[in-house]
Amino acid sequence: MTRTAGSVDTEFTFELITCRWAERTWPPGEARATATVVARQVGTRDRRWDTLIVEADPAGFAARERFGPDELDSDLLHVVRHAPAEWAWYRDALPDPGYPWRYVREAVHRAAARDAVETRRRGNRIELRRIAPYPDWISRVVAIENKPDLDASAARALADQIAYDVDCGLLDEVWVATRATGDAVPPALLEAFPVEAGILAVDPHAGEADVLWHPAALSTTDDARRRVIAERAYGRGWRSYVDTMRPDCRHFELAEVGEAFVPYCAAKARCQTGVECSGSCPAFEPEPPGWRTRGWPIEGGPGKGVRFLLDRRRDRVRSRERRRES
Ligand code: SF4
Repeated sequence: MTRTAGSVDTEFTFELITCRWAERTWPPGEARATATVVARQVGTRDRRWDTLIVEADPAGFAARERFGPDELDSDLLHVVRHAPAEWAWYRDALPDPGYPWRYVREAVHRAAARDAVETRRRGNRIELRRIAPYPDWISRVVAIENKPDLDASAARALADQIAYDVDCGLLDEVWVATRATGDAVPPALLEAFPVEAGILAVDPHAGEADVLWHPAALSTTDDARRRVIAERAYGRGWRSYVDTMRPDCRHFELAEVGEAFVPYCAAKARCQTGVECSGSCPAFEPEPPGWRTRGWPIEGGPGKGVRFLLDRRRDRVRSRERRRES
């Protein structure tokens, strides 16, 4: 079941609305000239970003599709990016990885199982060739930190993280998104943050955002890690939140807020957080088995229906972004 109204009580819900806003309207105040991927809670071992936006060259984005919808991790990227056009022994074809070749061999098999390269056996040697050149699809990588209630002390607490983001060499732009209050940007925020970070005022009910402060263009230094991060974003998107929640709970619903579908808990009569919506939630009750046979449009009942709905939305957005090439 979906509701048409709901409150935005949690940072989690605010984050989902920011992701949906970015998916619909990025970049703020400009016509979109790139294909855009939006992901949530993606990053590195040291830092995960609330909202990550990858702007892609449209032709490169369409070419990336050839390698499937899942992320290519760094080991798979090593294989796929260097796979030759003609058959060759993998140790001749791929650059020395700097770690044992047996791991590369394992990655070659994984890549072949996903149809991201072709392999054949010649004697006891594994040969490979590419299915297509892996494209240079990433134009810009942008991070947004979501802080709906951003007062001066919250800004000070966040300042070191934002300074890290500005300096990390992985991002082209850094933003902080806060709840729109109708006021101009308070001077305390500008004092707390590095001036290179932009500030967005998001109206979560309308699903709109205004720029309060424009960010600086940052210099990036680590293309290999940017590629890995962009691949994570590509594979995970932002609707995968449902994978760690309990849409199979009878109280789980979706509310439509700010042009986004966000989780809503009927038992708590509010939007729940991702953390509280788990099997250990005291109010968790599994979907009654009878729900699964009452003519739900999706086999498996409403829990499966939620996943189906979110997957369908993601696929529709992806195919819209692919069409930008033509
Ligand atoms: S009752 Fe608990 S598990 Fe069920 S939808 Fe609400 S928060 Fe999630």
